Amino acid sequence: MNVPLARPDITKKERQTVMSVLKTPILSLGPWLSKFEEAFAKFIGVKHAIAVNSGTSGLHLVVKSLGIKDGDEVITSPFTFISSATCMMFERARPVFVDIDPLTMNIDPKKIAKAITKKTKAILPIDVFGHPAEWDQILKIAQKHHLKIIEDSCEAIGSEYYSKIKKKWLECGQFGEAGVFAFYPNKQMTTGEGGLIVTDDDKIAELCRSMRNQGRGGDQKWLDHVRLGYNYRISDINCALGYVQISRIKEIMRKRATVAKMYHRHLKKIKEIILPYVAPNVKMSWQAYIIRLNNNFSREQRDKILDLLRKNGVGCNNYFPSIHLQPLFTKSFGYKRGDLPVSESISDRTIALPFFNNLSEAQIKYVAKILGAAVKQIGFVL
Ligand SMILES: *Cc1c(COP(=O)(O)O)cnc(C)c1O
Repeated sequence: MNVPLARPDITKKERQTVMSVLKTPILSLGPWLSKFEEAFAKFIGVKHAIAVNSGTSGLHLVVKSLGIKDGDEVITSPFTFISSATCMMFERARPVFVDIDPLTMNIDPKKIAKAITKKTKAILPIDVFGHPAEWDQILKIAQKHHLKIIEDSCEAIGSEYYSKIKKKWLECGQFGEAGVFAFYPNKQMTTGEGGLIVTDDDKIAELCRSMRNQGRGGDQKWLDHVRLGYNYRISDINCALGYVQISRIKEIMRKRATVAKMYHRHLKKIKEIILPYVAPNVKMSWQAYIIRLNNNFSREQRDKILDLLRKNGVGCNNYFPSIHLQPLFTKSFGYKRGDLPVSESISDRTIALPFFNNLSEAQIKYVAKILGAAVKQIGFVL
């Protein structure tokens, strides 16, 4: 049996809608861009949504619109996708890594204060794999130290967090000055390639709209450029796809929750692994399904298990290797093994299993069987 790691869920509706755009002459900056943005803003419950060509572009524009610049520091987590830690480097600001909470795998709020210096301008927490960060505590720290918050919610569309301070459930993407989503095909919803910024701040929204479109002014006259900008536009073809996907987001989230539940049922008998944790004050929108081997396993053993899974047709990956140990970061900032022990230890033992909307119970049973056998074999041999 072959079970891929991820698959988008594209229906006839998406295909028809994309085809309808191709029958018009307007393929960029057309009606689907605003339709997609409006539907997205409504779903999250924010004033502005600005669609761009990737999550990374979105993060970069938020960093720029907050005025983060050469010499500034931005606190973030080492256990995430690379662009959470490179988006400030585009502006010559420095990422400062704070270790993670061993349960949620998100930035550990207890360790943030120690990392704050005179140069710290912002905190950039990630809602990793769809699990919201510990927002109440993070917001308190940010307020106390006058720091901006950038929320990397690229993996968390639809996830909710119960704020004890505000006494209500809040959607991920709403916690910072701005939040950023991403639509690569392995996320909950896709536009092929794409990303989107959400914010209630008029100034940030205006700057992001201008900078995604070559720094054009508010009236967007084609040859008037008022600031340094980029081509971070997303085409109407992609936006049409995104519009149908966001219209289906509740259905998509339900399907993924069902898959997660089935995994739980079939994996809980494997004693050597730890299943994903969901905090009680959280409603999870599942981006990926990440299990961990227990502490008796080494990184080498984990890698052998990944090989065995792949040999048997089970797509998998080691999400995430700790970013501070990537060559770019050891070279640029002198980070080394031992600096962030929780993230390192977790990075050595995680396995992302196949996870997508239409994963069948038969496929899940097969993954459980192969994983159970691989864990026994590798754990026993060494
Ligand atoms: C996917 C992702 C991004 C951005 O991804 P793009 O490939 O640029 O769209 C950023 N941060 C996290 C945590 C992600 O998972």
